[in-house]
Amino acid sequence: MTAPTRAKLADGRDLLFFALPGHSPEPVADRRPLPQRNPDQSQLRFDRSTGQWVIIAALRQDRTYKPPADQCPLCPGPTGLTSEVPAPDYDVVVFENRFPSLSGAGRPLGAPGGDGFVCAPGHGRTEVICFSSDHTGSFAQLLPAHARLVIDAWRHRTADMLATPGIEQVFCFENRGEEIGVTLSHPHGQIYGYPYLTPRTATMLEQAREHRKRYGGNLFAALLEHEVADGSRVVARTELFTAFVPFAARWPVEVHIYPNRFVRNLVELTGDELDEFARLYLDVLGRFDRMYSAPLPYISALHQYAETDAQADGYFHVELMSIRRGATKLKYLAASESAMGAFIGDVMPESVAERLRELA
Ligand SMILES: [Zn+2]
Repeated sequence: MTAPTRAKLADGRDLLFFALPGHSPEPVADRRPLPQRNPDQSQLRFDRSTGQWVIIAALRQDRTYKPPADQCPLCPGPTGLTSEVPAPDYDVVVFENRFPSLSGAGRPLGAPGGDGFVCAPGHGRTEVICFSSDHTGSFAQLLPAHARLVIDAWRHRTADMLATPGIEQVFCFENRGEEIGVTLSHPHGQIYGYPYLTPRTATMLEQAREHRKRYGGNLFAALLEHEVADGSRVVARTELFTAFVPFAARWPVEVHIYPNRFVRNLVELTGDELDEFARLYLDVLGRFDRMYSAPLPYISALHQYAETDAQADGYFHVELMSIRRGATKLKYLAASESAMGAFIGDVMPESVAERLRELA
């Protein structure tokens, strides 16, 4: 992959252009009068009752909310006066979020201690990634080479952030649909660099440690092997990747995509594996879009791990989930899920897998 072209936005934020072969980005100066950034825009507060950090980012209340298409901040802005991407056109771009929940990475987070209320600066990094300069459409409609370019950009940002002091976990995600809270319709995703392990990741790594102690071997490799051997929840399997509905699915539509060999993150995948990942990912999204008359709203979460002892058992995979449980029905996180974290599934995971297999 060729190195991205780097530029700066008016308030000093980084902007990176990733280009398809034969294309070369031509950024123009960002001439917007943007206010200077506040280095302490958010804070972390430690919830001693759960042992979890909470990010308090009050400034995000003012972020751009469902703008009309002609004021989209993610469409290219050739004049340098209207857009977050000052350029006549682009293939894939990444820039630091103007309304970040985490920013100014560089200092490792100390372990929470003491009896009082524990606060820490909201250090870390949050970036926006635009998948295409085309305002309409979505990831599922990208050509395979373009999807691969997005994956290359995810991979570049993962390597970069994992090498940044103070960042513990890199989370690339993309989602679609107003139903799940997307406030800008332009096809895009985000990349978070957290200064701590997120609760779900910490729980999964704890399970993996427990598995290794009791049975030996890697928990996620064992789960993948079980799913493949059983077969009833497998949606698609190729030489290099497997997509399946998990045994204990929490969402009405939930699919996990694993590489067939253990790697911790995108950086460790080979060129062939990255191509195959792009193809299978598009394949799964295509099946999602054929489920109902309207495209399926979804969240796609890339689970990636660092090369540290604490994360040694982390197995790179993608978890896709949707709240749509019928043509006209959405699943809302109700009392059991929201208050207690106790999920109640409305459909049999095996039926969802069968339906997704038929939609090949
Ligand atoms: Zn747009």
